[in-house]
Amino acid sequence: MSEFRSRATELDGSDDLAGFRSEFVEPRQGRLRAYLDGNSLGRPLRRTAPALTDLVEGSWGSELIRSWTDGDDPWMTWPERVGDEIAAAALGAAPGQTVVADSTTVLLYKLARAGIGARPGRDEIVLDTDNFPTDRYVLEGISRELGMTLRWVETDPEAGITPDQVQQVVRERTALVVLSHVAYRSGWLADAPEITRIAHDAGALVLWDLCHSAGSVPVQLDAWEVDLAVGCTYKYLNGGPGAPAFAYVRKSLQDKARQPIQGWMGRKDPFTMGPGYEPAAGIRGFVSGTPPIVGMLPVRLGVEQLSRAGIEAVRRKSVALTSLAIEVVDSWPSEWGVRVASPRDPERRGGHVTVAGPGFEQVTRELWDAGVIPDFRSPDGIRLGLAPLSTSHAEVVDALEVMAELLTRRPA
Ligand SMILES: *Cc1c(COP(=O)(O)O)cnc(C)c1O
Repeated sequence: MSEFRSRATELDGSDDLAGFRSEFVEPRQGRLRAYLDGNSLGRPLRRTAPALTDLVEGSWGSELIRSWTDGDDPWMTWPERVGDEIAAAALGAAPGQTVVADSTTVLLYKLARAGIGARPGRDEIVLDTDNFPTDRYVLEGISRELGMTLRWVETDPEAGITPDQVQQVVRERTALVVLSHVAYRSGWLADAPEITRIAHDAGALVLWDLCHSAGSVPVQLDAWEVDLAVGCTYKYLNGGPGAPAFAYVRKSLQDKARQPIQGWMGRKDPFTMGPGYEPAAGIRGFVSGTPPIVGMLPVRLGVEQLSRAGIEAVRRKSVALTSLAIEVVDSWPSEWGVRVASPRDPERRGGHVTVAGPGFEQVTRELWDAGVIPDFRSPDGIRLGLAPLSTSHAEVVDALEVMAELLTRRPA
């Protein structure tokens, strides 16, 4: 194992992004040995606490209600402003197509309904059996609500959706294809441009869930001609627990696609308080209620950090981290029954690696007790989420050494 230790030291020594680690909050004494869950809850930046204090004492505490409309950064414009910041740093999207609001679940509902409404006369939704639960549940609800048929693609839970599989199900009845760009369990990185093209050839729209790619894998929504996308900000964007989500709606679709939660904040001239709902022009029409300002502040800081690091550099380090983790696991004796349940080809792998084996739910508990924090994904996977800006190569090797130690001591 010490061979891996020295490799990790070397890789950390030549890592251009190593300096970003010191921008994160240092956990209190004895509370952490290795954090491998940056794809469930990213770590906070040190700047976040003083920035929140400043918001409380400054714009909220001193300017009060005036902050919604006055000054050079009025709160009212944050949904679009922060949306554009995310779009530039992580989504490959021009301004005016992204907003921050709600949660991923709610935005998924709003955008799926908007997309389906823009394809009248079509009554099928394509999705896959291994998509994240909230995606499946939301679409089940929509199919019941609108009397649509769900066309399920059976995907390999240790790989993921392929263009061929999509080709086989899309047809003239397909309104919408809803998939994750990076699969939450296996880390499979879907061929989004190719799948988008296939859906379009059948006359359908696509809605990509970017929760596990935003801030980890480069995305080119404009170049790929994606119609709709959603994603969360508390994973690789380090926005904090329950931080609001983002939605992308392609410019040319914005006046055709209407979202169903017609709140006052998405209305044209909300403060006229007039009768009847008329959507605001452009992406603003996808906002429903009062923007979550406090929740957006840490997101802005996370996105600002990402834009300094650069998503291409983040991706390079991500591939190095996941490749190292796979090499270490591959060196373990086969008697342990551990397998890599993620794609081995880095071209098809996002920012996390799942390793699976017998009794891994218990192993996860023991790792947490030892201060090593991955997460467990049913039925038998330990998911290593390696956020490149906050994770070192040494941390990965250290965590896997603790895990190997636990597996060695297990009764046969
Ligand atoms: C984390 C995640 C979500 C989370 O949705 P919330 O509404 O924030 O709970 C949705 N989809 C995917 C693929 C995820 O990984």
